[in-house]
Amino acid sequence: MRIHPSFLLSSSDARQFPPPGAPEIAFLGRSNVGKSSLINALAGAKTAKTSNLPGRTQTINFFEIRWPGRPNPELLFVDLPGYGFARVPREVSAQWQKFVDPYLTHRSSLSLCLCLVDASVPAQKSDAQLVEFLRHVERRFVVVATKADRAGSRLHSALEALRQALGVEKIMPFSAKTGLGKDELWKLMRSVAKRTMPEQDSGEGGSLESTG
Ligand code: GDP
Repeated sequence: MRIHPSFLLSSSDARQFPPPGAPEIAFLGRSNVGKSSLINALAGAKTAKTSNLPGRTQTINFFEIRWPGRPNPELLFVDLPGYGFARVPREVSAQWQKFVDPYLTHRSSLSLCLCLVDASVPAQKSDAQLVEFLRHVERRFVVVATKADRAGSRLHSALEALRQALGVEKIMPFSAKTGLGKDELWKLMRSVAKRTMPEQDSGEGGSLESTG
C-alpha cells in the first residue's frame, strides 16, 4: 500500500502554522545531514528538496501523509530548518530561536521528534544541545543515524559512540540509499499515528505500510 504525501504549507512564523490536527513527526538535524533524502525515502516521493546548499531551508514545511482511501491525513511530516552549519549567518540562527524553539516547545500536535545525525560523523555540540533541549521540553524523540551505508563495517561502533555521546538508549541506523531502517522507522511512526488518533477515526483498523 502506498501512502500519499502532499505539501501543505511553509512557514517562517508561528502565526502561520496550520491549526493542530493529525499527530506531527518533526525532522531535525544539522544542515546536510540527509534530512530531505530521509523524508523522501520515507514518503516514497520527492517531497522535500535535497540540495548541496547547506542551511538553505529556513522555513518549517508541513506535509500531510494520508493512507489510501482515508479522507484525512494520518500524520504530518514537519521538516524543520537545518541547524549548526558554520556558514549559516547569525540572523538565521536567530530565526531558529524565533520560530523553531516555540514550535518544539508549544506545539500541541507534535508527537515525535526524529533527531538526525550522520552515522560517520562524531556527535557535534549542536546535536547534543538539541537532545538536551528536547529532554528539557519533555518531547518524545529518537536519534536516527543517517547515511549508514557510508559507515560500512564501522557502523556498529559508530552507533555505539554516538549513543554514548548523546546519552540515549538507542540509535536507529538509516540509509536513504539502501533503505536500511526504513521499515523500523515506519513502524515507530505508525504507532505514533495510532496512539493519538481520535476514537471516531480509528474504526477502520487497516494496517498501514510504507511505500515499497
Ligand atoms: P539535508 O540538507 O539534510 O536535507 O541533506 P540532503 O538530503 O540534501 O543530503 C545531503 C547529501 O547527502 C546529498 O549529497 C545526499 O545525496 C547525501 N545523502 C543523503 N542521504 C544519504 C544516504 O543515505 N547515503 C548516502 N551515501 N548519501 C546520502
